Amino acid sequence: MIELSGVTKSFGSHQVLKGITGSVQRGEVVCLIGPSGSGKSTILRCINGLESYDGGSILIDGAKVDRADRSIRAIRTAMAMVFQRFNLFPHRTALENVVEGPIHVKKEPAAQAMERGRDLLARVGLADKFGAYPAQLSGGQMQRVAIARALAMQPKAILFDEPTSALDPELVGEVLGVMKSLAEEGMTMLVVTHEMGFAREVADRVLFLDGGVIVEEGAAREVLSAPRNPRTQDFLRRVL
Ligand code: ATP
Ligand code: MG
Repeated sequence: MIELSGVTKSFGSHQVLKGITGSVQRGEVVCLIGPSGSGKSTILRCINGLESYDGGSILIDGAKVDRADRSIRAIRTAMAMVFQRFNLFPHRTALENVVEGPIHVKKEPAAQAMERGRDLLARVGLADKFGAYPAQLSGGQMQRVAIARALAMQPKAILFDEPTSALDPELVGEVLGVMKSLAEEGMTMLVVTHEMGFAREVADRVLFLDGGVIVEEGAAREVLSAPRNPRTQDFLRRVL
């Protein structure tokens, strides 16, 4: 579904992506791991068109991601993003945050969007929080609202950028649990994470990025348990 081929990207004279090739198949969960500054967020931002790339190609179901093209709006909708910071609207309730995109971007009838929004909030364990404002929610609850908001756009895939790294440790599990159930339901997911337990348990494949290239990739268990590349070995020794 998502195919990157020789993707390059520089900020000024700093080449951040040095030819990224990789793919995410429909229904697959791929974890993207690697040290700080290796370009993980940049890859996600290029995939959903938040950032342009210089060379190579990114295809979503065969259509090229091109920020200059009108198709970019559809791609942004298809590739929902969940960030480290939840970016909820502070003056809107949980339900209003979830239905904002369906009503204003997808022009869905409000009643229908609200009904689905309630179902989605229930699905992430927030059936009792429809009317709560972000300030009345814990970090884990806010992140689950953000996941419901992503799902409300009926995306083809969800791109997660360190969805649990801003959370207190005791709140991490509830968010990973929701992500795991999405994976089990067949959602296509590309997940930047430092949660190696999640990667091992839930990911089909792991990509290890270092210095703007994918240094190692393979089945999650193989890469995490028996990494072949010395840089992967060194990274895992430090994070595990
Ligand atoms: P982290 O684990 O810390 O989130 P990352 O792997 O997500 O790191 P990126 O955020 O993709 O890394 O950044 C890769 C490199 O690109 C970094 O050196 C960063 O400083 C640089 N960079 C990212 N965005 C910009 C920007 N808008 N302008 C200039 N440099 C940028
Ligand atoms: Mg990042």
